Amino acid sequence: MKTKQTLTQQTVSLIEIPKPLDKLSESEIKRKACIGKIMTYTLRNLTSQFVDSGFEWLLPVALSQSTDPLWPDPGASIEKRIEVDIYGKTVRTTASMIIHKLIASSLAYPKLFILSPNIRIEKAERATTGKHIYEFTQLDFEARDASTKDVMILVEDAVCSLLTSLKRDMKDELTFLCRCDTIKLPKRPFKVYDRQELEAKYGADWEEAISQETSDPVWVTNIPREFYDFEDFKTGKWDNYDLFMPQYGEVLSGAKREWEYEKILQKIERDNVDKSNYALILKLAKEGKLKPTAGGGIGMERLVGWISGVEHIAETQPFPRVPGTVNEL
Ligand code: ATP
Ligand code: ASP
Ligand code: MG
Repeated sequence: MKTKQTLTQQTVSLIEIPKPLDKLSESEIKRKACIGKIMTYTLRNLTSQFVDSGFEWLLPVALSQSTDPLWPDPGASIEKRIEVDIYGKTVRTTASMIIHKLIASSLAYPKLFILSPNIRIEKAERATTGKHIYEFTQLDFEARDASTKDVMILVEDAVCSLLTSLKRDMKDELTFLCRCDTIKLPKRPFKVYDRQELEAKYGADWEEAISQETSDPVWVTNIPREFYDFEDFKTGKWDNYDLFMPQYGEVLSGAKREWEYEKILQKIERDNVDKSNYALILKLAKEGKLKPTAGGGIGMERLVGWISGVEHIAETQPFPRVPGTVNEL
């Protein structure tokens, strides 16, 4: 994370901050429309693939008592957490629907996905990473009794099938964006690295280094983070994963999940997370109603940003959400 910021600071002046629609020139509008077509195609393609694989499509929520703590995550950079009182209770805007996913998959919808708007008020200095916006959408999915391997196969199928279809159906758009020849169909299965092995090789800059070095998408596993990702207390290893795209970076995070009460409680307390915001998931775990699941979330603006070869992912947004900048729309 530090690396990305350091490298980005060196290239600050090279990254143009995406403008709102009313400030775009004619040629910029043409480019915007082209990226919009890639977004539409990608949304239709991926949602169809999930529906065809038996996943239920849930609609998102915006306000809940329980949302992603986004802590502890060495990459997190949240400037402000939005809380508001309604009907005498404090609710938070959705940072991610991780808690909703775990409960919904356990109780009623074994395989589910959501196009989930996430609000994360990233620090203004992240305006120039090109990878951060303060409102974005995850294609967030979860499957009961799934393993890490199952999720990897599912995601590799989805990505390879999407790229094959895009190259067939969106030639004009990809050519306009100069991506027709640079996007290659990845070799399967994607390589899997352990974070510790990358840290030993590249140091703290491993995310940037592996993204630059690889010519195919790669998985990285065993990344310490929030309480809901599965951690083997005996080995100290985390059963979780990130997907990195070549010459780009992270587009997906996911994990096999914790479901046992004692472990969840211990981790929440260890991490100094406010237990009272996670009462329901703790109660369900205690009653044995929380099931083992696995899943992940694909950042749609990041994925389409990579496909389209944008400098800044806010280029994929009709109404840019660049950290530090609030436009009228
Ligand atoms: P990063 O380390 O790159 O800041 P993260 O690891 O903190 O991101 P996650 O909590 O893993 O982010 O979020 C899941 C996915 O949502 C990410 O893999 C990414 O695709 C997307 N995402 C996260 N934060 C942002 C953001 N600020 N803007 C756009 N997409 C994001
Ligand atoms: N979507 C992520 C997951 O499934 C959680 C997050 O948003 O960080 O693990
Ligand atoms: Mg992540």
